[in-house]
Amino acid sequence: MHIAANELDPMVDSLLDAACSGVAPGPVPGDGSGIASRVARHASAVRAAGGSAVDALDSALVALLFAGEAKALAERPDGDPRHDPAGVRSVAARMRSYPAEIRRRATGAAAAGVVNGHRNLQLMTTRRCQLRCTYCPVIKGGEDMPREVLDRAVDILLGSGRDEVRLDFSGGEPLLRKDDVLHAADRLLEGAAAAGKRAGFYMVTNGFLLTRSVAADLAARGFRVELSLDGSEETHNRHKVLSPGAGGTNPYRATVGAIRNSIDAGLPCTVVMVASPDTVDLLEAGFEHAIGLGVRSIDVNYAVGKGWGGTAAVSFVKAISRVIGNHEADLRSGRLSIGNLSSKVEPAILNAEWMVDTDGSLHLMTEWALESSRDPGAPALSAGSVRDPLRWDDLYAGRFHAYHALLESYSWRSAAMRVLVHDNVVMGRAVSRGLAEAWR
Ligand code: SF4
Repeated sequence: MHIAANELDPMVDSLLDAACSGVAPGPVPGDGSGIASRVARHASAVRAAGGSAVDALDSALVALLFAGEAKALAERPDGDPRHDPAGVRSVAARMRSYPAEIRRRATGAAAAGVVNGHRNLQLMTTRRCQLRCTYCPVIKGGEDMPREVLDRAVDILLGSGRDEVRLDFSGGEPLLRKDDVLHAADRLLEGAAAAGKRAGFYMVTNGFLLTRSVAADLAARGFRVELSLDGSEETHNRHKVLSPGAGGTNPYRATVGAIRNSIDAGLPCTVVMVASPDTVDLLEAGFEHAIGLGVRSIDVNYAVGKGWGGTAAVSFVKAISRVIGNHEADLRSGRLSIGNLSSKVEPAILNAEWMVDTDGSLHLMTEWALESSRDPGAPALSAGSVRDPLRWDDLYAGRFHAYHALLESYSWRSAAMRVLVHDNVVMGRAVSRGLAEAWR
């Protein structure tokens, strides 16, 4: 019996909680002390639930790694790189084969022992965008995804053993490639119908090009769009900077116009607010603003790497808790939804979903989340290319792989990277725990 990557998450979560609370790690799972014995118990539970040895190791090691990070950072709050967390280093060294393992699976050379549990694939259709949001992790450029790569990615997803698949479009701004987006959607719909699968679509867009007619095209194919709205016009435009040559469009008005067009066309629309420590006090007002515009699905992201220590994290959870209190009846009845209460992948930095870059290379989402802060000298990380003979179900990856990718890509010796990752992990766990208490 296989266990899917996402089924491990609750177990990993509890271990991350222990790690984030500063419990000292033991050197190896099962030595009977502290977190090591907890890790061993969870690893046994994974095995007892039918998981493979890889699953058990994965859940154990990710916890040990974070325990080591938490401990090291607690001892050196200034992130002094001279303090080498030896436990992290030795575990990471032993597991250097993990990226190779992923690549072997990606090229079909390994017998599948653990099945990829994800049903969605994200496509970076273009790196172009009309905006330069201050918190955006995407490196901008002129690269577009060729249609041949688009087609291949769709076909790989269609090879999934699951009966429901979803194509996610991001960028850059995907609607700069509207014709290719619709082409890929039609290809997935046709392939899914032939294979007896259900197909869905999700697109992150800044809304600049989301006219009524485009909204109707997307609605007809079953899309949901995600529009970023950070609050009032002043709050929203604070972090939304127009790119050179983008003309005089007001980003706030473009987004609000796109929300109206989506609602009018019957296109499901989720508004995402990106909160930073300097705007967290405006979060509650931002929620009410979006609800006033007719939005009924809202999600909040906290900007990665912005220093969510102490009061900022508490303010974030309190703001969402107050919104829950103000709108509890609508939330219980389903008239309003807050994505953070159900579907959030926390900590976001360990997102082990798959994405395809414009050149066809295959990556874990975690690499994309920190792309712009990556060391330019770091090795290129990829699990292969969609031009390889990939099998979707072989593309298993868990949070350990995501963390390992960060270690490889950003160098674990980098104090800045360690602080950034740790900040996101602690914030992610604080949000998960806080919202679980506010929403029972
Ligand atoms: S709209 Fe999206 S892709 Fe464009 S700069 Fe802003 S966050 Fe980045």
